[in-house]
Amino acid sequence: MGALALFLGHPRSTVRLSGHGRNSPTNVHHEHKPTVLYISTRGEAPTLGFADVTLAGLARDGGLYMPQTWPKLAPDMIAGMAGRPFHEIAVEVIAPFTGGDISRADLSAMARDAYAQFGHAAVTPLVQIGPDLWVLELFHGPTLAFKDVAMQLLARMMDHVLAKRGQRATIVGATSGDTGGAAIEAFRGSKRVDVVILFPDGRVSDVQRRMMTTPTEANVHALAVDGTFDDCQALVKAMFNHHAFRDRLALSAVNSINWARIVAQVTYYFAAGAALGAPHRKLSFVVPTGNFGDILAGYVARQMGLPIEKLVIASNANDILPRTLATGVYETRGVVATTSPSMDIQVSSNFERYLFEAGGRDAGAIRAQMASLAQSGRFEIGKAHARLKAEFAAASADEKAVAETIRRTERQSGYLAEPHTACAIHAADTLAPVPGAARIVLATAHPAKFPDAMAEITGRRPALPPRLKSLMTEVERMTVLPNDLAAIERFIEARSRVATEGNR
Ligand SMILES: *Cc1c(COP(=O)(O)O)cnc(C)c1O
Repeated sequence: MGALALFLGHPRSTVRLSGHGRNSPTNVHHEHKPTVLYISTRGEAPTLGFADVTLAGLARDGGLYMPQTWPKLAPDMIAGMAGRPFHEIAVEVIAPFTGGDISRADLSAMARDAYAQFGHAAVTPLVQIGPDLWVLELFHGPTLAFKDVAMQLLARMMDHVLAKRGQRATIVGATSGDTGGAAIEAFRGSKRVDVVILFPDGRVSDVQRRMMTTPTEANVHALAVDGTFDDCQALVKAMFNHHAFRDRLALSAVNSINWARIVAQVTYYFAAGAALGAPHRKLSFVVPTGNFGDILAGYVARQMGLPIEKLVIASNANDILPRTLATGVYETRGVVATTSPSMDIQVSSNFERYLFEAGGRDAGAIRAQMASLAQSGRFEIGKAHARLKAEFAAASADEKAVAETIRRTERQSGYLAEPHTACAIHAADTLAPVPGAARIVLATAHPAKFPDAMAEITGRRPALPPRLKSLMTEVERMTVLPNDLAAIERFIEARSRVATEGNR
């Protein structure tokens, strides 16, 4: 995947990025010089502006892009967010990261449009479930999971950047469930982007599959692969490593290491914090996380000036992050399947960004740690451990704890949480109460997205929101292909407009 960013610029023209080293000159398309620059955690990829970072996903040295410095929001700006529309808060949070690559007026229009797709006037409403405990509902978007918050805006930003450059792109991704639907829903009808999502045939839920297979636009394609999620991921990785194919189709990625997705997730930390009295009130956020993406957005919010006491990592039985916090050793183990499948991961890819920060932005140390991970499946986090323990807490919930938390929460407060959210409610209980402070649990999915697990735990199947009631009866459109790279590449090549119409 290290070569993924090579498609930046015109893939087949002379502006191909060829420089190594962090200060290589890069993109000659800009009619301006971006004023915010991004560096790779591994220190050997070109420094880029926001637009290039958004299109690239991963850095070409295999690292992840980070801004050189953190923008700050003044306390009175944060206090003034209380009661403002969500899309306006999003602009205040995201604009400082764009470095002039996207104008404020364009960003405002995109944010307004993106968050108009949500089924709640607050976009991300807060629900109080205890004296000092709130649930921040992030699931009112089109696919009922928090990934819509970032993906809806990301799709608009990508289209915008590509339109300005007169280019197209082909997005290829693998999904175990939520990301694929969010991407297809966000990019459906895009003039500039074609999307192909690989998923393991028969191994995603009916709701998840239908969210990918019922959109009728010609630019989105759900591809059921006869294999596992790991097979799908390996196929995507192979396509990105197949340089001629990657360049011919201008492949791009929208997985959780895309920096623009992280930035778009910072928005709700500020919206919720201001609504509950920040910066004058102490807050802790409890976040169901696997890839460390959502909770990294909380860390960014704190760097920007939101006073956050603790960021609590909530994991399911796949507990690599809580183990790392306890021991200082990051060590992979096999994945176990749980009722919170979106957190069933072995490697937390975004953790690299925090390691880079907490270790003093030492790219050489990151390279050594990642080499150790590739070789032996483990590394010591070293200097970063003390800071990790000071800034974060962590707890994992096994399947019994998840079920008990769902039943107890409903009994005590009437609130029905799904399994990812329940991991976080469980973790919130491990935090010592601070007088006057607020604990905010992020609810990352709607219970109706996981009806079988909910039925097993509560005895009832939660109903889909009315705006989605036709989902289960609409006609599905998908292609089933064998686990065969050449066949899948042929399928994509025949449908990508970059391949069939050219990258203009
Ligand atoms: C993706 C997802 C998560 C985990 O998000 P991270 O990017 O790993 O922090 C949690 N819950 C749900 C429902 C998800 O779809």
